[in-house]
Amino acid sequence: MDSTQALKAIGSCLALAMERGLGKNGLVFPVECKDAADDTCRNFCKNLEQIFAQMNETYRFAEALANGELKTEVSRSNIFAMPLKALQASLRHLTWQTNQVADGDLSQQVDFLGEFSLSFNHMIASLRDKESLEQRLKTITDVLGEGVYLVDTEGRLIFANPEAERLLGYSFQEMAGKMVFNTIHKQFADGTFFPPEGTQLVSAIHNGQVYNNDDCVFACKSGRLMPVSLACRPVITGGKLEGTVIAFHDITEQKKYQESLQTINALLEKQASTDALTGIYNRLEFSKLLTLEISRARRYQSSMTIIMFDIDKFKEINDAYGHQTGDSVLIDMARVVNANVRTTDIFARWGGEEFMVIAPGCALDQGIQLAEMLRLRVAQTTFSVPREVTASFGVAALRRDDTEISLTNRVDHALYQAKANGRNRVEAEDADA
Ligand code: GH3
Ligand code: MG
Ligand code: MG
Repeated sequence: MDSTQALKAIGSCLALAMERGLGKNGLVFPVECKDAADDTCRNFCKNLEQIFAQMNETYRFAEALANGELKTEVSRSNIFAMPLKALQASLRHLTWQTNQVADGDLSQQVDFLGEFSLSFNHMIASLRDKESLEQRLKTITDVLGEGVYLVDTEGRLIFANPEAERLLGYSFQEMAGKMVFNTIHKQFADGTFFPPEGTQLVSAIHNGQVYNNDDCVFACKSGRLMPVSLACRPVITGGKLEGTVIAFHDITEQKKYQESLQTINALLEKQASTDALTGIYNRLEFSKLLTLEISRARRYQSSMTIIMFDIDKFKEINDAYGHQTGDSVLIDMARVVNANVRTTDIFARWGGEEFMVIAPGCALDQGIQLAEMLRLRVAQTTFSVPREVTASFGVAALRRDDTEISLTNRVDHALYQAKANGRNRVEAEDADA
């Protein structure tokens, strides 16, 4: 084959490749070198055949790189593959660097891939910012005197800070991924379990609602029900509900304090309305209750009677047996009368050895009967003194135009009459007066 034929064959082989692309065998050199007509043509064909072979190898190498096969080898002598080999080395190094980043090494920098380097380094800077933000948040939740944990939308625990671990007694590892409704949030304050439809807290977590509760309980690992005050806030990322942060603190001491305050207040209230010696209502409370009963009687147009009584010759008892014995007589007197009035009646110490009874619903004659019955009971009681103790009673019924003062004045006057008429007796107001 002379050189003109060889060039023609090579020319049409290249033209075909340009037109149709490379087949699976690549560029096939179309000339048998040994058939060349002379040495010049043979040498030219040999060199060109080698170039064809390097181009084919480069093509396959580039194809492998494009497919991400970074370990493909290429012969050292291939002059066309040099820049691709450099790219391969860069990509292999970048792969290693990316793995380092994945393992938490944020010191990696890329400076050999132009525009890509800028993007990579920017990504690393963002990750570093995020890490420092996370670190700051972690420090905050670590030192916070408030329990904080995070649950997903189903209620599975994703995060708990040290205070939450301390308060609940569970370590985060013990609780991670567990449903909090089977562990910490399952009971009401009285110990009963949540109903199947859940509670407001459950639906706040499921629906990502803001929710606060100052009267909740959490079950600790020890089994103790800890009263807590809690605040739930949804965590929304990119418009999607990710879970709920629950911040809480133990209010055991606060509850105890509130309870003791309530007890003290109830005691103070009772003290303020009770006569210390006899334990029945005092005068202040009597006045309040009288006002209340008068308005009640007016509203329901019902009758109402009041009875005032005073121990007879009480001064003599004190003088003869001492003040302490006198006190015992007052206590016994209150007990006897209290046992003989209705629960709806109001019985109070007016002062000294004087007492008052309000009998709601009683007309004057019923009030007189009640007073007579009480007088008899008193007279028949054996007191802690070696003598008979009696009392005198006045009775008055509520009138249309009465005030507390006018009614009290009339009953006082009736009592005065009972004293004047010889004591140990009942006198009613003059109904016609
Ligand atoms: P009368 O039959 O007219 O009511 O005579 P009285 O002696 O009961 O009446 P007087 O008003 O003269 O005396 C009442 C006495 O009650 C005087 C007072 O020392 C006594 N007294 C008042 N409060 C108490 C108390 O809390 N304890 C005792 N032990 N005595 C009291
Ligand atoms: Mg008196
Ligand atoms: Mg008296």
